[in-house]
Amino acid sequence: MAPNTPLLYAVIGNPIEHSRSPLIHRAFARQLGIDLTYEKIWAPIDGFEETVTAFIKRGGRGMNVTVPFKLQAFDLADRHSERAQRALAANTLVFPESADEPIYAENTDGVGLVNDLAFHDVDVAGGRVLILGAGGATRGVLAPLLHEAPQELVIANRNPDRAHGLVEEFSDAAGDCLLSGCPLAEIEESRFDLIINATPASLSAQLPPLPDGLIGAGTAAYDMAYGAEPTVFMEWAEARGARALDGLGMLVEQAAESFAIWHGKRPDTAPVREQLRQAIREAAAERAAED
Ligand code: NDP
Repeated sequence: MAPNTPLLYAVIGNPIEHSRSPLIHRAFARQLGIDLTYEKIWAPIDGFEETVTAFIKRGGRGMNVTVPFKLQAFDLADRHSERAQRALAANTLVFPESADEPIYAENTDGVGLVNDLAFHDVDVAGGRVLILGAGGATRGVLAPLLHEAPQELVIANRNPDRAHGLVEEFSDAAGDCLLSGCPLAEIEESRFDLIINATPASLSAQLPPLPDGLIGAGTAAYDMAYGAEPTVFMEWAEARGARALDGLGMLVEQAAESFAIWHGKRPDTAPVREQLRQAIREAAAERAAED
C-alpha cells in the first residue's frame, strides 16, 4: 500500500445498512488524529469468507463483525483471545500485513457492556442479576459479567434448554456466584439489582412476560436494544420506579475496545455517545417527516 494511504477498516454484516459503527470509528479517529477509512460491507449469507478475503486483499487491517457472522468470524481466525474463545464468537478481527501471518479474533461485546454499566455507576459486584435471552449476545457477555462477581446470575430464556446449556458451559467461570437458568415465563418473583434484556424483543415493541416483583426503585434495567425513544422494556421498568438504560453505550464501548486493539490508543467515549444519540434522533425525525 502507498505510504500515505489511510488505514482500511470495515464492519461486515447482513443486513448492514443500519450500522452505526462507521460513525463511531470515524469520530474516534478524528479525536485521536488517526487517518483511517471505515466502510460498511454487506456479505451474502453464504459468502462471508470470500468477502473477508477480498477485503484483506484490498489492504483491510481489521473488521467489526455483526449479525449473523460472529460465529463464522471466530471460525475464520487462526488465533483467539480468551474472551472470544469463551464466547465461540468474534465481533473484532485483526488482519495481518502479510498473508502468511495469522488472523486474530476478539470479542469486545462483554467488556463493552461492563464498561457501559461502570460508566452509569451500575455496580454488578455482590448483586442479583437477571439476563433475559440466551443467544449470541448473552454468550458474549456472560464471562465478563461473572468476572464482576455478582452474588447471583439467572439466565431466563424462551427456550429453557439454551439457558441451561449456557449455565453448564459457564459454570467454571461462576466462582462464588450462584448461576442458574429457567424458562422466560417462569422467573421466580424476587427483586433483582440488575435486569438485562438481551433479547431483540424491543425491536418489535414486544415485552417479555415479566412479573412486577422482579423490579423496584433499586433496580437498573438495561436493554441491549436502543433507538431514538426509550424501548418498551425501558418504559416498563421506569413505570415501576427502576432506572432504565439502553444499549447505545454498550455499542460505543465495544467499538472503543476494538479501536484500542487496532490502534493502541483508547478514545474518550463520552462525546461520541452524545454524537451517536443525536444522529439517531435526527434520523428518526427525518423518517417521521417522510411518513
Ligand atoms: P440471538 O438471535 O442470538 O438471540 C436472541 C435471544 O432472544 C434468544 O435467546 C431468543 O430466544 C430470544 N428472543 C428472541 N425474540 C424474543 C421475543 N420476542 N421474546 C422473548 N425472547 C426472544 O440475538 P443476539 O443475542 O445476538 O442479540 C440480542 C439483542 O441484543 C439484539 O437486539 C441485538 O441487537 C442486541 N445487541 C446489542 C449490542 C449492543 O452493542 N448494544 C451488542 C449485541 C447485541 P430463543 O432461544 O427461545 O429463540
